[in-house]
Amino acid sequence: MTLDILVKNVALWGADGHCDLGIADGRFVSITLAADSPDAGLVLDAEGRMAVSGFVEPHIHLDKALISERAPANVSGTLKEAIEILWNIKRNYTVDEIADRASRVLERALAHGISRLRTHVDVDPIGGTRPAEGLIRVRDRFRDLMDIQIVAFPQEGIVKSPGTEALMRQVMKSGVDVVGGMPFNELSPADSRRHIEIAFDIAREFDADIDMHVDETDDPMARTLEVLAELTIRNGWQGRVTAGHACALGSYSRNYADHVIGCLHKAGVNMIANPATNLMLQGRFDDYPKRRGVTQVKELLAAGVNVACGQDCVHDTFYPFGQNDPLEIAFLLCHASQMSQPDEIRTVMDMVTSHGAKALRVPDFGVTVGAMADLVVLDARDAREAFATRSPRRWVIRKGKLIAETRLEMYRYFDLPAARPNKD
Ligand SMILES: [Zn+2]
Repeated sequence: MTLDILVKNVALWGADGHCDLGIADGRFVSITLAADSPDAGLVLDAEGRMAVSGFVEPHIHLDKALISERAPANVSGTLKEAIEILWNIKRNYTVDEIADRASRVLERALAHGISRLRTHVDVDPIGGTRPAEGLIRVRDRFRDLMDIQIVAFPQEGIVKSPGTEALMRQVMKSGVDVVGGMPFNELSPADSRRHIEIAFDIAREFDADIDMHVDETDDPMARTLEVLAELTIRNGWQGRVTAGHACALGSYSRNYADHVIGCLHKAGVNMIANPATNLMLQGRFDDYPKRRGVTQVKELLAAGVNVACGQDCVHDTFYPFGQNDPLEIAFLLCHASQMSQPDEIRTVMDMVTSHGAKALRVPDFGVTVGAMADLVVLDARDAREAFATRSPRRWVIRKGKLIAETRLEMYRYFDLPAARPNKD
């Protein structure tokens, strides 16, 4: 049999040793121990480099990405100001410019090796359905290259923002995949609970998963995460609910935090940490010591909760940086959550791959014979090196086709004294 692509001498993430991967008709057809490999249209020698089965970006806001190119500065640096300065801009959104900004970010995401991505999209009476229309167009545009899920995100609240509930149903009808939420952005705990109940009503109507922004605040009295876990079980939605940010969990007392983490585990809620944005936004009103704003990653993992991490923001009013590179987010998370031991660093690589895939309920994720041939060969030997160098993506293969590559240059600095004898 002639293969389309043969990737030789690759160290597969999660497996021992090196192997050769055969790809034909978009799928992995052989995983062999570097013996007699068949002919292939394209042979790529990984020379022992490591490879993962595509990165998963579980939490980004493509409708707002790059908006800082024309937005005023967020002077207080807070979530509140970031939301409020967007109001004027959202009123003048067009479907075309949303699709253009999102496409620019996705082109880089592809080169970074992201194969699956979940983006939130604002749904409220200010921007109406235009952001969702823009991202549905982009999802179609990138259909053959990236699996994109869109979440209807009521950032301005549901109970306190009349008209939002109807708009959420409208965008779900037009093809948005997942029901979002931001229950802490209501006027009372009772309204926050109502917000979550409405999200479950819509999810049941459309048989959709739920992915909410939960308690994105330092306030330890923000307690909607526990309500989300409770209503997940009551609605029988275990495994289908994801909570992003969950910063308040980082401010809870140990006793209450352990109670909530136990509820999340029981409810099968997936958790997403967003270290870049929350290191930047949270703790702004703290004197020293300042809180980090990142949820309790190690404690959630230790309790058996599925935890992934995501970019969240790219050059918008919330966060001035970001390039949708999972290695950069993993690197930040290692610092924010003090993941420094070898097994902790390996877990963070899982967080940007298989844990994200579990949260997005991606079928067919992983390198096995018969699976979709998605592969990212990194210019690194292990996860630590990949994070330390935010390593180049040597090759990105998607659905059996080579879609991106980085040519590795050797630079020679002739003015520097050689550290050791040069064999050349
Ligand atoms: Zn977010």
